[in-house]
Amino acid sequence: MSFRLVIDCSEFEQKDVSHSFFGGNALSFFQNSPMAKKKTEQNGYADDAPRSYFEDALARKDATLDQALRPPNFDDFTGQPRTIERLRVMVGAARRERRALDHILLHGPPGLGKTTLALILAEEMGTKVKITSGPVIEKPADLAGLLTALEEGEILFIDEIHRISKVVEEFLYSAMEDFRIDIMIDQGPNARSVRLSIPRFTLVGATTRTGLLTAPMRSRFTLQTRLDYYTHEDLFKIVKRNCAKLGIAADDGGAMEIARRARGTPRIVNNLIRFARDYALERGNGAIDQKTAAAALELLEIDRHGLDDMDKRILRTLALNYNGGPVGLGTIGVAVGEDEHTLEEVHEPYLIQEGYIARTPQGRVLTEKGWGVCGVEREFGKQSTLF
Ligand code: ADP
Repeated sequence: MSFRLVIDCSEFEQKDVSHSFFGGNALSFFQNSPMAKKKTEQNGYADDAPRSYFEDALARKDATLDQALRPPNFDDFTGQPRTIERLRVMVGAARRERRALDHILLHGPPGLGKTTLALILAEEMGTKVKITSGPVIEKPADLAGLLTALEEGEILFIDEIHRISKVVEEFLYSAMEDFRIDIMIDQGPNARSVRLSIPRFTLVGATTRTGLLTAPMRSRFTLQTRLDYYTHEDLFKIVKRNCAKLGIAADDGGAMEIARRARGTPRIVNNLIRFARDYALERGNGAIDQKTAAAALELLEIDRHGLDDMDKRILRTLALNYNGGPVGLGTIGVAVGEDEHTLEEVHEPYLIQEGYIARTPQGRVLTEKGWGVCGVEREFGKQSTLF
C-alpha cells in the first residue's frame, strides 16, 4: 500500500519567527504577488527609474529594516485606534479564559501594518506565529503540513488570503471551524479519507482585496477589521520614532514633510526616511530638516500632495483623454501603461481617499480637487470622449 500524501513540515518548523518570515519563506511567497512580479528587488531604493515610486516601495519588504522598526506590542503601535481597541478586547478575553484567540481578518492597502499586527497578536498572547501566504499553499497537503505542525494556541498568519486556491479554501473551512481536516490518501480501490486533528489555532488572514474573498470564507472570521491610511499626525510620530531608532537626526519640520508625502503608509515612511537620510548626507549636513526632506522627495518625484508620477499620469489621463470621465479602470490602465490590479491596489485607494477621483457606477471621475492638482485646464461644455 502506498501513501500519496507527503506532508513536509520542515519549512514551517523554524522556531524563530523573524527567521522564518524574513529569512526565506516570506520573500519567496512575496515574490509571487502581482506587485512584486514586476519588481523583485528586495533591498535599497531602486536605482533604475521605477514607473511608480510607491508601487516599488510597497512591493519591497526590507527584511532588516522591517525587523528593526516593527512596533513590538499594542502600546508601541501608532494609529488604527478602532482596530487596536477591537484586538485588545479579543486578546483580553482570550487570555482571561486561557483559550486560543478567535480567527481574525485584517484588510486594507499594502504597507499599513497587517503583518506587524499578526506579530503583535502573538506577542500579546504569549504564543508563536507562523507566516505564510495564499499563493504558497498550492495543495491541500501543503495546508495539512502547515496546520498539523501548529501548536495549541499558535497563530497562523496567511498573507494575501484572497489568492488561496478554491480547493485549499474548502479544507480551510473545516480546519477553522472544527479543528480537523479530512484528507484523501492513496488512489483507486485503496483510496480513503483520513481525519487529522489540528490543535486549536488562530488564523489571522490578511488581504488587500476583501471583495475577492468568498462569503463562506469571510463568515468564518469572528472579527473582520479594516486598516485605514494613517493621518499625517500618526505618521509624524512614526517618522520621529523610527529616526530615533535608526539614529538619524530629523527635526519636526523634516519629519512632518516626510509624513505628509508618505501617502498614509508606514512602509513608505520607512523608505522615505532612508532616502532623505542619504540625501541629507550627500547634499546637506546629515540632518533631515524641512528643506532637505522636501528636496529629497522632489528628487523622487513625490510632490507636496504625496502624489508620485503614476498618480499624476492617472489624473492627467482622466483630464486630457476623457475630460474628467467617467471611465473604467481597465481603460485608464491601458492609457497609462500600468496593470489594472496595481492601479486598484496601490493608486486608486489613495486617490479616492484624498478626494482626487471618485468611483461611480459608470467609472472613475476626476473631482474638483483632482482637476486642481492635475495641471490641465478644464474645458467646460466639452463632452467626455467616452460618450
Ligand atoms: P502589511 O502587512 O500591511 O503590508 P507591514 O505590517 O509589513 O504591512 O508593515 C510595513 C512596515 O511598516 C513594517 O516594517 C513596520 O515597520 C511599519 N509599520 C506598520 N504599521 C506601523 C505602525 N502602526 N507604527 C509604526 N510602524 C508601522
